[in-house]
Amino acid sequence: MKVHEYQARSLLEEAGVPVPASKVVENVADAVAAHESMGGTVVVKAQVFAGGRGKAGFVKLCQTPDETRQAAEFMLTNRMVSKQTGPEGAAVKKLLVAEAVEIDKEYYVAVVLDRAKRRSVVMVSREGGVEIEEVAANTPDAIHKEWIHPHLGLLGFKTARLVNALGLTEKDQVKGATRVINGLAKIFAQCDCSLAEINPLVRTKDGRILAIDAKMNFDDSGLFRQPKLREMYDPSEEDPNELRAKEHGLSYIPLDGNIGCLVNGAGLAMSTMDIIKLHGGEPANFLDVGGSVSTEGATEAFRIILADSKVKGVLVNIFGGIAKCDTIAEALITAAREVGFNVPVVVRLEGTNVERARELIAEANIEQLITADDLADAAKKVCAQVA
Ligand code: GDP
Ligand code: MN
Repeated sequence: MKVHEYQARSLLEEAGVPVPASKVVENVADAVAAHESMGGTVVVKAQVFAGGRGKAGFVKLCQTPDETRQAAEFMLTNRMVSKQTGPEGAAVKKLLVAEAVEIDKEYYVAVVLDRAKRRSVVMVSREGGVEIEEVAANTPDAIHKEWIHPHLGLLGFKTARLVNALGLTEKDQVKGATRVINGLAKIFAQCDCSLAEINPLVRTKDGRILAIDAKMNFDDSGLFRQPKLREMYDPSEEDPNELRAKEHGLSYIPLDGNIGCLVNGAGLAMSTMDIIKLHGGEPANFLDVGGSVSTEGATEAFRIILADSKVKGVLVNIFGGIAKCDTIAEALITAAREVGFNVPVVVRLEGTNVERARELIAEANIEQLITADDLADAAKKVCAQVA
């Protein structure tokens, strides 16, 4: 699960990380009113899940309420397109109006999971701001890492090393950065984060250490014990197809190609995508109906896959174990009748009740439905259909 910057900021504040005062608004008038009540210069920031807002013109310093009016109007009526959104961009429904700060230097601080080391890692860099991806790619040495002990947490000497790596020596700034790093590590552990990032952490011209942007992702598997985070959930920011899939206990992953994949099981999904690529195709998505799928669930799966306009052909690859092939066949037939197949659907079924499934499909006599003998045959057929 992701949250907005303003929600991440509130978690930071609770953990003792200093953040400039701000207000969330949903219309231009409230943005202007927020500026008037704060006075001075503010920064107007689009609240969307994707980053790269600064470069896209969706983080704007505004000196007067009139500038805030213009910035708010622009952001609420244009979709934000950045490296992280794809060409379709993201609609902006909320804005953060925050007191602007005068920046002396921008830093980067983040906690992520290091899967190889099987522990969490804190990363800091003096090269914070909007180009951190390039820093990581071109000068990885400019990022300093310290790992968090699974039982003892972030040890004091490690925090000190991180602060030192930021090049901070002035007493109050060392104290400030120590609070920020410890606060972020605490949030990461207590909130079941998969990412907790402050970019940039800044030193202001008057020497204060402040977080002026925050990004947090949470492990969905931990949400059952995170009631406060569950309240922050904003379904309007999610991909509507992913939401529909979730509601039906299906997992749906959108990709860039043009072949939709309906499979049961994550391993089968991976091998299905591999074999499609081997035969020159590109998957548009995969939808995993899981082990114990119902006819309704599988029908919904077809609806979701066929709703994607990128999909020019579908490969159904089911290995019937707990999920029986005849259930999938029934779903296929229901979907064909209810939704209608607007593209060719290649089907490879194997396993429990496969004979019955083949009979059902043959009897239904559905146009656009192509049966395959085995997986290689199925991949070849679907690739030929979309070529
Ligand atoms: P992102 O581009 O989506 O990561 O949005 P950020 O909130 O990180 O803002 C992008 C950039 O805008 C920052 O790196 C800063 O350089 C600048 N910025 C953001 N807030 C302020 C502010 O209060 N004062 C000044 N001077 N610059 C700011
Ligand atoms: Mn940022």
